[in-house]
Amino acid sequence: MSKTDLYAVMGNPIAHSKSPFIHKAFAKQVGHDIAYDPALIPTEENSFSKAVQEFQQLGCKGVNVTVPFKQKAWMLCHERSARAEKAGAVNTLSFDELGRCLGDNTDGVGLVRDFTKNHQGQLNNKRVLILGAGGAVRGILEPLLAEKPTLCTIANRTVSKAEELVQLFADEGTLIACSYDALIGQQFDVIINGTSASLQGELPPLPDDLLAEHAWCYDMMYAGTATPFITWALAHNAQKALDGLGMLVEQAAESFYIWRGIRPETQAVISRLRERIIREQMMPKAPQTIDTNTTTTTQPVKFMSKKPVNEVGGPEGPEPTRFGDWERKGRCIDF
Ligand code: NDP
Repeated sequence: MSKTDLYAVMGNPIAHSKSPFIHKAFAKQVGHDIAYDPALIPTEENSFSKAVQEFQQLGCKGVNVTVPFKQKAWMLCHERSARAEKAGAVNTLSFDELGRCLGDNTDGVGLVRDFTKNHQGQLNNKRVLILGAGGAVRGILEPLLAEKPTLCTIANRTVSKAEELVQLFADEGTLIACSYDALIGQQFDVIINGTSASLQGELPPLPDDLLAEHAWCYDMMYAGTATPFITWALAHNAQKALDGLGMLVEQAAESFYIWRGIRPETQAVISRLRERIIREQMMPKAPQTIDTNTTTTTQPVKFMSKKPVNEVGGPEGPEPTRFGDWERKGRCIDF
């Protein structure tokens, strides 16, 4: 009789998570028997570490971690990969036979793979500008600098945070920190938006002549319609304007590889996920509940379902839609 291996994604909020869809699609593709469920974890002190412990005792093989627990995950690991060590955040937990918790961070590899493999973009010898200096940017810096851009400028509203990152990663490439005002008169070949401004429908204050000829723009956020940054990029004649959906699927593929030892094919999953988020945005939204510190446990810490992996995807959606065709607004956060 086959044994189903258990996985979960932990966060708060978590209802939006696309990770169960992605991982079940991977499992179906490679013929592995897994269950992968979302787990809403209260934000009170110790809730996350208790939940991880409980999942481990249930025989869970691995956990993905999202906002706001990536730093907590980093702290509770017995061992971390080099890239997670430097990122200061862990998004992939594995449990070994000795009961130890091993941490990795697959966000950066996800972005680089989407940019360079899926879209055939180049970071090597390019002038790269990163907008934002939060957790996600910290997570992508090492894999991005490994591509050897000519220079990497980090612009942030709070410049001191960009300066901290420059100090931390100074050994790995030519890095500069600056304010948005200091971007006036500069031009870049690649601009990556790693701010969460798009979540509020906003855009950092960018000068009009920021894009070099044939420049590419990449928004780490994704949505069923063009994000404010994508809209800006297209209006300023970017050669390509890409969102972070491919990054999301690629970071998941790397987690899957860590857990299952096999690298799933991602293109079909990206296309189906794109169809799905467009379809979701065309449906009326139910009000979303977000936990606060005052909320007690909202969901038992256990696996909610063991849906067979062949249920992934639901009914077939419309044909894949191009950026310009997106009609409805929406937003997401990672995972
Ligand atoms: P953090 O909260 O750690 O950092 C947010 C960053 O955005 C800070 O640099 C902050 O600046 C900046 N910011 C927020 N609002 C504005 C604004 N209105 N104008 C200018 N700057 C602003 O968030 P994360 O780093 O975790 O996430 C950043 C983004 O990356 C999110 O959109 C998230 O969805 C996306 N992401 C996507 C992933 C994927 O797989 N596609 C994976 C991980 C993240 P300041 O420091 O001044 O406050």
